[in-house]
Amino acid sequence: MLYDVIIIGGSYAGLAAALPLARARRQLLIIDAGQRRNRFADRSHGFLTQDGAKAADIAAVAREQVLAYGTVQWLAASATGARPVENGFGVETDDGGLHTARRLVLAGGVVDTLPEVPGLAERWGRQVFHCPYCHGYELQQGRIGVLATSELAMHQALLLPDWGRTTLLLNDRFTPDAQQRAQLQARGVCIETGAVRAITGQADVRFDDGRVLAFDGLFTAPQSRVESPVARALGCEISTGPMGGVIQTDALKATTVANVFACGDAARLGGSVPLAVGDGTMAGLAAHRSLVFAPH
Ligand code: FAD
Ligand code: MG
Repeated sequence: MLYDVIIIGGSYAGLAAALPLARARRQLLIIDAGQRRNRFADRSHGFLTQDGAKAADIAAVAREQVLAYGTVQWLAASATGARPVENGFGVETDDGGLHTARRLVLAGGVVDTLPEVPGLAERWGRQVFHCPYCHGYELQQGRIGVLATSELAMHQALLLPDWGRTTLLLNDRFTPDAQQRAQLQARGVCIETGAVRAITGQADVRFDDGRVLAFDGLFTAPQSRVESPVARALGCEISTGPMGGVIQTDALKATTVANVFACGDAARLGGSVPLAVGDGTMAGLAAHRSLVFAPH
């Protein structure tokens, strides 16, 4: 069967793209590998009407509502490649399937690579975070550490004093110059030098020299990478920056390849659930309009 649209990624962005298409009674296939980026965190914050809801519940209710429309199919699988076919695209999946559609929406999110500090990965999404807007408030104005991975730690270190007493842990990753020190001082940020050996306890930072500093929470910047075999196979342009890359899109969430759209974290830096839902909605509308107004 030739679907109208295949959506790769069935989380916030992909389901938001699906909803307007489902409501136009278009034939949809959603392919999802079940690895939501925020699966390490229990609660999600900052999405209007769902502030503090369980991240899994927001995704589950969204999926249930979208699948209630009769023209939507769900496939639990991973898309491994794609190629142009007559009137559209063929998408290969790791279960050996080949699925065809006239339009594609890429909503596969990103993969985070965390700093290799023992004890950090186990605390990701619980005591170690990257987004102050998502998890800063719950630290109750407590002690916050920013674990530097590069000079970009300046960004988190300067933001975070709004959420608690902030210490920048340089961990030999960069050395602030005089201007940066003045900026940090103006925001009341303390600076700690020395290599970090491990995170233990709640969020205790152990240094190589034996010192231990206790925090209520830590922030760090992972490398966030788009891993989209479909975007790669079709030649969608992917930008790369210091924090990772994103699939290039225009204001309508169209990629650089005709009839392929992208949304959510895969197509914007610094994404969030509400931004994924907004961008996903735009991608779904744009894919629908392209089926009507530019059918080839
Ligand atoms: P995702 O939610 O990551 O979903 C992508 C989906 O696509 C996954 O199911 C994945 O398995 C699937 N997929 C990927 N590749 C393929 C493929 N090839 N084939 C098939 N399926 C594929 N944001 C907030 O707004 N509030 C918060 O409180 C918050 N907390 C967070 C906590 C943590 C620890 C992290 C890491 C992030 C948090 N975020 C939060 C950010 C939020 O998780 C993302 O912005 C959001 O999940 C992006 O949605 P998305 O649909 O683009 O991608
Ligand atoms: Mg999605």
